[in-house]
Amino acid sequence: MRLPAWMQRRRFASGLVITALSLGTLAMTKAAEQRNWLGTAEPSNEPAEQPAPEQADPCPSPATPDPLLGPRTKKPGSWVGRSPVQTNLPIVVMAGHADSQGTASPGTPGYAVHKQKRPPMQPGIRDELFWNRQVQAAVVSQGQARGLNIRAYTPPSISIANDDDSSTNWSKAKVFSERGEYVLEIHFDAYRPHGFGSGLIPVLANVRELNVVDESLAQAFGRYPRFFRGGLGGPRRGIGILEIAILEPPLETNLRDPSSREHTVNCLAERVVNAIVQGVS
Ligand SMILES: [Zn+2]
Repeated sequence: MRLPAWMQRRRFASGLVITALSLGTLAMTKAAEQRNWLGTAEPSNEPAEQPAPEQADPCPSPATPDPLLGPRTKKPGSWVGRSPVQTNLPIVVMAGHADSQGTASPGTPGYAVHKQKRPPMQPGIRDELFWNRQVQAAVVSQGQARGLNIRAYTPPSISIANDDDSSTNWSKAKVFSERGEYVLEIHFDAYRPHGFGSGLIPVLANVRELNVVDESLAQAFGRYPRFFRGGLGGPRRGIGILEIAILEPPLETNLRDPSSREHTVNCLAERVVNAIVQGVS
């Protein structure tokens, strides 16, 4: 049956209204999710619906300001990584300060411990190392799942007094780097005003030219000057230092909250893995 023209127009118009309404609902749901993630949502008065099928929440998308990472480094560099890499580039992920607990450089205690006097996540180690390890593990497992030639290195002790001991991050990185492997060390920066923000502190010029993976990580996280603080020990030995973010709320709160911890760590790792995958392909 053919409808008269005015009825067809009406059906078309109501279709438009319905589409607009569902798009509006979708946008509102998305906004509510993002508010939830930031932990500032008002409690909902709506009746509980039947449980939805298990579905991982999406990670916050990169933006300015960035809802996941917070501020990028306030001291940006101007280098560009251009050297090509093989798609099967061997990548070694280290946790910053994994061998320097109880030394002069144990990592940041974080805002919660230092300013709010909360107990550390794990007695005997700085919170930075705790989170460095969590992100390190998630980067390696996600990276392997996505086909990267990626592995972790973990020193045998959390406190190795001699930097030149053959099992420190520094000594291993020198060996790995000299045979063409890409070494990335995960860090969190101190809370403000001490920290600078997220970004890659790349290897120094004596090690190698900066490559497309350095470039991709810098575009995702930010770019520190190549000679940051006069050239750090790690970058001198072939380590690219990735400052994931400053260790303060709201990120630190989301990490410490057991209900949002795993998701937050996975979202941080996803940013790293996305950048590496983009760099090697
Ligand atoms: Zn650090």
